[in-house]
Amino acid sequence: MPPFNLSNIIRPHIRDLVPYSSARDEYTGKEGIFLDANENPFGSVVSSPFNRYPDPYQQEIKQLLAPLKGVRPGQIFLGNGSDEAIDLLIRAICRPGIDNIIIMPPTYGMYEVSAGINDVHVRKVTLTSDFQIDTEKVLESIDPATKIIWVCSPNNPTGNAIHPESIQAILDGFSGGIVVVDEAYIDFTSQPSWTTLLDENPNLVVIQTFSKAWGLASLRTGMCFASEELIGILNKIKPPYNIGGPSQLLLLEALQNAGAVPGMVQDILEQRQVLSEEIARLPQVLKVYPSDANFLLVRFRDARGTMQHLIDEKIIVRDRSKVVLCEDCLRITVGTAAENEALLASLKGIR
Ligand SMILES: *Cc1c(COP(=O)(O)O)cnc(C)c1O
Repeated sequence: MPPFNLSNIIRPHIRDLVPYSSARDEYTGKEGIFLDANENPFGSVVSSPFNRYPDPYQQEIKQLLAPLKGVRPGQIFLGNGSDEAIDLLIRAICRPGIDNIIIMPPTYGMYEVSAGINDVHVRKVTLTSDFQIDTEKVLESIDPATKIIWVCSPNNPTGNAIHPESIQAILDGFSGGIVVVDEAYIDFTSQPSWTTLLDENPNLVVIQTFSKAWGLASLRTGMCFASEELIGILNKIKPPYNIGGPSQLLLLEALQNAGAVPGMVQDILEQRQVLSEEIARLPQVLKVYPSDANFLLVRFRDARGTMQHLIDEKIIVRDRSKVVLCEDCLRITVGTAAENEALLASLKGIR
């Protein structure tokens, strides 16, 4: 197996691309008379001033985020949702109509959709019945056109964390592309993050998000952690101002309040415990799967009937019953104590 070499993996035209150079690239000082970006010098038509283009590389945010994640600022990319990072990784690396990615269903839907948008083939290696990686099958499915292997841990929609030994085996067994570990739910598990292992694993990319534990889904901000070289490629192909100024201000505030995250997570974990025990007592429930995330996967006798009953009472959960290995399962996000009680009351009212 030839060693991992990023410049062989990046699509040649991307590797050689000369990126757009924005006004904020060419002059990075903060003081001065700015007549370079065709902005409105008088201000904005809203009460706060948003007339200036934001920092294209969100450097203040990365300065605060890096120590929190045990990485260097240059190892961070921020995207308009994690979905932007997912799309950019595929576009930077996978040749349309030629290359393929490997996903492990049941898992997050965007890897396949993003590959589809980019005309990239998708190989599927179903998780084992206990929702772990079939490492041998994954490694057997790799061919010279395989460029990205997607691992979601804790996994959506199953809720479990993937064994780190399996992820390491894939990292060690695959040098022809990258392994992306999607850690959207990392704050809800006791498993450590892979962000601190980037230097040991040049083919590793980690994705996280501000949408879940941080309570900032509406901001649309995802994080991608990788080698400085790969982050440089993402910076080169991203839309120049992909994180808006208002989002950057709120992210800075969030990072200054980072100490509030563990308390919120603790509240969610307590509710997860209560909800999981209570749901497991219901006669129509066949199984509540253990969760390392902020949701529960629950197998019902009649998932579709249950879903409809809940919708009639304006309680919305996610129907995963048509997903492989998730037959008759609903995915239920852990709510507040009052929301969870309302859910339980509604479920108890079935027949
Ligand atoms: C929610 C979620 C994300 C986050 O997506 P954003 O675009 O950052 O909101 C990423 N991956 C998985 C597996 C998720 O469930």
